[in-house]
Amino acid sequence: MSSGSGDVARTHLISQVGPDLEGQEVGLAGWVYRYRDLGSVIFIVLRDATGIIQAVVRSEEVDPNSWEAAKKADVEASVKLAGVVRLDPRAPGGVEIRVTRASLVGESPDFPIKKDTGVEFRLDKRHLDIRSRRMWAALKIRAEFIAGLREWFDSNGFVSVEAPTFVSAAVEGGATLFELNYFGRKAYLTQSSQFYLEAAIFTFEKVYTIQPSFRAEKSRTRRHLTEFWHAEAEMAWHDLDAMMDVAEALVDHAVQRVYENRKEELEILGRKFEPPQRPYPRISYDEAIDIAQSKGVQIEWGDDMSTEAERAVSLEFDRPVFVYRYPKQAKAFYHAPDPARPEVVLCADLLAPEGIGEIIGGGQRIHSYDELVARIREEGLRVEDYEWYLDLRRYGSVPHAGFGLGVERTVRWIAGIPHIRDAVAFPRTPTRLTP
Ligand code: ATP
Ligand code: MG
Repeated sequence: MSSGSGDVARTHLISQVGPDLEGQEVGLAGWVYRYRDLGSVIFIVLRDATGIIQAVVRSEEVDPNSWEAAKKADVEASVKLAGVVRLDPRAPGGVEIRVTRASLVGESPDFPIKKDTGVEFRLDKRHLDIRSRRMWAALKIRAEFIAGLREWFDSNGFVSVEAPTFVSAAVEGGATLFELNYFGRKAYLTQSSQFYLEAAIFTFEKVYTIQPSFRAEKSRTRRHLTEFWHAEAEMAWHDLDAMMDVAEALVDHAVQRVYENRKEELEILGRKFEPPQRPYPRISYDEAIDIAQSKGVQIEWGDDMSTEAERAVSLEFDRPVFVYRYPKQAKAFYHAPDPARPEVVLCADLLAPEGIGEIIGGGQRIHSYDELVARIREEGLRVEDYEWYLDLRRYGSVPHAGFGLGVERTVRWIAGIPHIRDAVAFPRTPTRLTP
């Protein structure tokens, strides 16, 4: 398939080519991002992993093989170009390449995604659409954010522990469980690694994992996926306040890292983002309900915070806000009750600003065996299903707390991405299982 001047060697990445190289010859390799054939001149915007650059091919300036290669190239063809760097204030990056040799590596006849292609078709062709500048930017921000999470955990005494994906019981309640046939037995896809991390605190005290969780969410929203990446942490000897300290420091670190290192990507997405100032405010569920009601949201004390309620509260603050001490009935059985006020539990959610809402859910866990059994029974769950989890309260139990952060939800906020599916390369939603 290859044609043209086969001897074009790659000497530079596109991001390395700037005005300082004026007059020098460089060899580039990449894909054709834009292609315009004006007869005797061809304009190519070339893309590689690091950026884009404009290249001009003139029939009189290249050999016939190179000219043929440039003619045969089209959008998303892979090419190698050698050429001389010229200053051009109108071009992206301030330079353009006057091509001297070109070779076509892989042709691309009629790339299916065009400028005006609709959203659904793009999603069908996601394996191709991740080449777009928009997805390039979003996915680099995501990668940077995940690296920031890991960096913070790894440098703050946390040990990474991975948990299984096949599980035999629910963590977050039956409604969103994916069931599967495990050699004739019922099994499920994990909704959270929390219980496994709780087991691991007795080995390492502070542990984390970043891996997928699965929720059979029936509601199709801009903030739910059926498979999402879940950054979870669990800490021995931590109470609710200490848990919020950890979550705040973690989010702040990862957000700062994105801000420092992904300015170009944020700009491509048109996102004006400033890392929020610390500390993040902490308000009670009671206060949050008051705020939501005062904004006209239909909600009663005792209800879980709805999307509208979270939105109303988050719009009141210019930075993430913790909402703590929810009513017991709004939360899962393992949340520790507040000794001073048993109708509420020692939990906290972190709501991202701008109406985004919950990005973290967490809190202190019940560490007494008797209390935990009582809560399992009270919820109508079967004690036998939680045998191994109860062992953690039988043998050397300690006060502990933890939380789970939704990677895509948080990236959606940082990058200003309208729909959560664009915060992951290959999204899974109720209607989408390919590519
Ligand atoms: P929500 O009520 O917003 O659906 P949740 O309270 O069920 O979320 P948790 O069980 O607390 O979620 O999970 C911890 C975090 O995981 C959430 O704060 C969120 O960031 C993320 N998360 C939960 N469910 C989803 C989902 N379906 N898609 C994407 N992220 C999710
Ligand atoms: Mg939650």
